[in-house]
Amino acid sequence: MDDDARPAARLTVLSGPSGVGKDSVIELIRARSPWIKLSVSVTTRKKRDYEIDGEHYHFVTRTEFQRLIDGAQLLEWAEFAGNLYGTPRAQVEGWLAQGRPVLLKIDLQGARQVRAAMSEAQLVFLAPPSVEELKRRLVGRGTDDEETIKRRLAHADEELAAEKEFDRTVVNDFVERAADELVGLLGSSYLAPAQPNPGAGVP
Ligand code: 5GP
Repeated sequence: MDDDARPAARLTVLSGPSGVGKDSVIELIRARSPWIKLSVSVTTRKKRDYEIDGEHYHFVTRTEFQRLIDGAQLLEWAEFAGNLYGTPRAQVEGWLAQGRPVLLKIDLQGARQVRAAMSEAQLVFLAPPSVEELKRRLVGRGTDDEETIKRRLAHADEELAAEKEFDRTVVNDFVERAADELVGLLGSSYLAPAQPNPGAGVP
């Protein structure tokens, strides 16, 4: 595809209830679609073992995070489960100026802020195949006590109810299919099976 034939770059927000599989969809897109730029959020959360600083998140202290807020350097930010998360503004604006499609994986509060700040942004809701399936995943996640599970289920109801605020819904029935559909919504055809060498020359 030559540059002129590429669709206009757009900012897309991917949100959805916790446990729906946003991370799996994003990981697939990271591996297969280098043309799509994934925003790297800043967070005060502790790094998980498999995460790479600067790739999955920029891990910062609360003081550093506050400095970014004060300097208006975040496009949006939110507190989630006691930690702060935010999207660096300059990074996103730079990529959009270069004509790249940009994907943000953020929570509902962040999606609402992006909608308010950038009306042209596309909001995509990742939905579970069914509410029962999501609840099964949340309950079966590990060794959480009953109180934690109850809180999580109540939160899931709230998150599911937000679907109507979004422009599009992608159902995560199969992660490959869902990632494919999302890439389509980003106006990109850079999925590995369709393009033998999708990353060539793309930084
Ligand atoms: P986790 O700690 O599991 O990586 O992420 C927790 C939640 O924070 C997820 O719902 C994720 O989408 C959200 N999140 C990650 N980065 C950002 C961000 O930059 N802004 C907002 N508002 N939420 C974020």
